[in-house]
Amino acid sequence: MKQILALHTGGTISMTADDSGAMSPSATNPLLDANPALGARVSLTTEDIFNVPSPHMTPKLMLQLTKRIERAEAEGIDGVVITHGTDTLEETAYFLDLTLGSTIPIVVTGAMRSSNEIGSDGLYNFQTAIQTAASEGAKGKGVLVVMNDEIHTARYVTKTHTTNVATFRTPTFGPVGLVTHDSVRFFQELINQETSNIDHVVDNVFMLKAFAGMDSTMFDMLPDNTNGLVIEALGAGNLPPATLDGVQRLINRDIPVVLVSRCFNGVAEPVYDYEGGGVQLKKMGVIFCQGLNGQKARIKLIVGLSNGKSKEELAHYMDNAIS
Ligand code: ASP
Repeated sequence: MKQILALHTGGTISMTADDSGAMSPSATNPLLDANPALGARVSLTTEDIFNVPSPHMTPKLMLQLTKRIERAEAEGIDGVVITHGTDTLEETAYFLDLTLGSTIPIVVTGAMRSSNEIGSDGLYNFQTAIQTAASEGAKGKGVLVVMNDEIHTARYVTKTHTTNVATFRTPTFGPVGLVTHDSVRFFQELINQETSNIDHVVDNVFMLKAFAGMDSTMFDMLPDNTNGLVIEALGAGNLPPATLDGVQRLINRDIPVVLVSRCFNGVAEPVYDYEGGGVQLKKMGVIFCQGLNGQKARIKLIVGLSNGKSKEELAHYMDNAIS
């Protein structure tokens, strides 16, 4: 018998819609009364650890989840399912992935339609997430996100659509598995799994998105207590020339500046050697981070800084080298 713990954190999966269609958290989580079909092999325990819409989620709450899951694993739980609002689901899932050394399956899920809407996907996603958490194949795969019959890695999955139930996708690499009618199947797995133990989270790690005509204004507005910056740069990893002075001033202040691409496919690399091109940015000391989107790179930077990594360690850690 597999002992699975479900930790509910809130989000649409736990909400109900009123007569006008407006959704809000319910006084009692509808999932607590739900009856997913589990079969004889699974024993489910549930806990409402938070009840927040996911835009209210913070790295501090994410760390509380990490600690709760560590405790559950020490107590002998075989797998954990976390239900979560979809807006920041990928950030919490990746935070857990970076901070949990677990070998038991950890699966995050959510819903695009609330519990009482027609075509509600919450109970179904909850059920398939439990199936995945109870499967042998999910062991040692890092934190997984199960939505709409697909299994994605926390590292690369992202929300791609505001309302569609097929919103969670893994650009560039694709899902790692599927939940079929009868089974949970994996087709690929990640390389370079590295976890860091942390007991606090640093704040003031910011993110800026590059745009045509951008200058240094936003970079110079970052407060004195800034601990790190992620830039969603252009294309393969380039910035408009007028940003360079601002970026240089941040680097001179010893603030780690991490660069990803604002493109949702591919990796950022120092390719272009013109003013503001990636080759020059790299020479200035900008850290290129491969394959992560901006919000994931920010979570990774928070974890790396909270783990007390030195400047050199941080540069290597944030590199996220794929090869
Ligand atoms: N706004 C909601 C949230 O993230 C969306 C969802 O759960 O699907 O909490």
